[in-house]
Amino acid sequence: MSGLKLANVKKSFGAVEVIKGVDLEVADKEFVVFVGPSGCGKSTLLRMIAGLEQISGGDLFIGDARMNDVDPSQRGIAMVFQTYALYPHMTVRENMGFALKFAGRPKAEIEQRVAEAARILELGPLLERRPGQLSGGQRQRVAIGRAIVRHPDVFLFDEPLSNLDAELRVHMRIEIARLHQELKTTIIYVTHDQVEAMTLADKIVVLRDGRIEQVGSPLELYDNPDNIFVAGFIGSPK
Ligand code: ADP
Ligand code: MG
Repeated sequence: MSGLKLANVKKSFGAVEVIKGVDLEVADKEFVVFVGPSGCGKSTLLRMIAGLEQISGGDLFIGDARMNDVDPSQRGIAMVFQTYALYPHMTVRENMGFALKFAGRPKAEIEQRVAEAARILELGPLLERRPGQLSGGQRQRVAIGRAIVRHPDVFLFDEPLSNLDAELRVHMRIEIARLHQELKTTIIYVTHDQVEAMTLADKIVVLRDGRIEQVGSPLELYDNPDNIFVAGFIGSPK
């Protein structure tokens, strides 16, 4: 289990700086939600934490270890994306076990971890199906299952529910809250759904143009937004 620390983290693509010095501490087991307009840098931040994007400046710590140059597979992190590209020719069971198999884990361990994830996500009856035989919500649960089997210290979710219809989003939101309770892991979660942010977060981080505009609990931001921008995302204007 781990917390995270970002210290003056920056990212440039060519000459364009898109993350302009982010300082943030995430406590162990905390559920942190990033919100902010499209293009403000939410996905880039997650991708740097996951190691899918090189950090241009500053430091990233996971637990006590500086992670700037550590391989993604060694960071104890699993990421769930908005488009949950499952392997169409593999069953649910194979999709969930694939990363472990690829990493050379023993067969018995893979079976045990897939069974555990299937129990948590209530996927047991679907294990022999292929993605084409699943609903959108079921597919998203498989994508989360693929992350769970890796036993990450930190989960990163990038708008995981935005492709689902409203009813399913409500259902999945409850599932994700339950998952956080049961697995007791640290979660960083990107959304532009205000209700998701308010109900899931211990702490909300409002981002704007590559910087943090305000950080606080849902209630703090709702009651005391620093400005009209934050109020537009979360709060009631002063
Ligand atoms: P968000 O997830 O908040 O919508 P992103 O992190 O995807 O925002 O993007 C932040 C900014 O960085 C945007 O201006 C985007 O165009 C730019 N950007 C993201 N990835 C790349 C890339 N690989 N090359 C160049 N620019 C990028
Ligand atoms: Mg994004």
